[in-house]
Amino acid sequence: MSQFNLENDDYRNHLYNQAKDGKRLWIYPGRIIGNLYRARTYFSYVLLILLFGLPWVEISGQPVFMFNVIERTFIFWTVPFYPQDFHLVALGIVCFLIFISLFTVLFGRIWCGWACPQTIFMEMLFRKIEYWIEGDDKAQRRLDEGPWNQEKILKKSSKHFIFLILAFAISNTFLMYIIGKKEWLKLVIEPPMNHLIGFMAIWIFTAVFYFVFARFREIVCMVVCPYGRLQGVLLDNNSILVQYDHKRGEPKGKLTKGETSTNHGDCIDCHWCVRVCPTGIDIRNGSNQLECIGCTSCIDACDEVMEKINKPKDLIRYDSLNGVNSGTKLKFTTRIAAYSVALMAIIGVFGYLLITRKNYETTLLRMPGMTYQYDEKTHMVSNLYQIEILNKSKGKQHYKITVAPPLTLIWVGKGISMIENGKMAKGEFFIKGLVGQQPRREKLPIMVTDSEGDTEIIKTSFIQPDE
Ligand code: SF4
Ligand code: SF4
Repeated sequence: MSQFNLENDDYRNHLYNQAKDGKRLWIYPGRIIGNLYRARTYFSYVLLILLFGLPWVEISGQPVFMFNVIERTFIFWTVPFYPQDFHLVALGIVCFLIFISLFTVLFGRIWCGWACPQTIFMEMLFRKIEYWIEGDDKAQRRLDEGPWNQEKILKKSSKHFIFLILAFAISNTFLMYIIGKKEWLKLVIEPPMNHLIGFMAIWIFTAVFYFVFARFREIVCMVVCPYGRLQGVLLDNNSILVQYDHKRGEPKGKLTKGETSTNHGDCIDCHWCVRVCPTGIDIRNGSNQLECIGCTSCIDACDEVMEKINKPKDLIRYDSLNGVNSGTKLKFTTRIAAYSVALMAIIGVFGYLLITRKNYETTLLRMPGMTYQYDEKTHMVSNLYQIEILNKSKGKQHYKITVAPPLTLIWVGKGISMIENGKMAKGEFFIKGLVGQQPRREKLPIMVTDSEGDTEIIKTSFIQPDE
């Protein structure tokens, strides 16, 4: 029996976790262990190790990932990006959106069920702790409905205490991804008053994560997540989703004790697939329900039931709606191949742009409001320039700025030599030569070379008097 007592297509009129009077219905998903759940568990271990471990890793003094929105510095796979890389970031976002769209058209919500941090934390950490302390869905319901006795106080307080610790750990990890390990360590070691904003951020994030995983839960996926809301326009009948094989399962009917064959479909209406669903939905109401996060728990649940009643597995499985309707097995089609090639091409283009990105960014301008300085006696002419160099590489660099002889480059002041990574340096210099030495119709090339021998030639104008 569904815990929501839904009739016909009444489920379309309100969310599964919402009663008709608008009150929230708490979801108690049944505990499931099956092949897919096991695979998801192992996969989640890898993801959790990466998620919690990566902020601690530094390669050549650089974090692997950092998304410092405050200082507008981003590090992606140890490659730093700055506001000057806006075109790359914009292109990256476009590639990402196209990738997400194509991926979803093909594979539905695989991301949500297998890799989304919300699902991983909720189902693989918080839910497991809940099962461990409070027991399975039935025990949890009993505990919630029962009086506040010693057992309930002990179980609830220990569960929420562990939830708080986990939320605190996630909050700190989240902050490390924003400000980097070094700044985070300062925040932890030094007195809170020295880093009041960071200190407050840790506790605000902790409170948010605690609320999300202790109370808000499936509402994130069902209501808040924009990716979830996009499913309606991204999916089609060929998208691979968690599907109930209605042709095989319908008409559903109960199996009475001792009965081996029936005149109804293979679904025995046991509701086990509904009970294990973390968003409380009934997959038998059709595919592409926006609340389905593709977690595959219902597949494992139904396989378990089919095994018990000696029926073939896969009544609920990964398939497309067209596949279910036509009764054909899921296979690698030309469409999947074409989309996959497009996905690879997008990744390839973006990868090429990343690899060929220059390690430094130069801006060269003639000094505003000035034309040239001319010495009538020597017949020498000079132009004044301003230069800015941003070191985008992973280490400090020495820069050499040169001009082809017989023209000479004379710095105003110290000039630019060494620049730390991530830093920008500015300088001014004259280019000097005899009138006419620089061909009048040609642009003047100025060479900038870093320690690794990477050279950029910037062409600029050189103004001189008429002969
Ligand atoms: S678990 Fe399988 S048999 Fe049971 S209700 Fe769900 S689809 Fe039907
Ligand atoms: S319907 Fe199945 S796959 Fe979808 S969220 Fe529920 S249990 Fe997971």
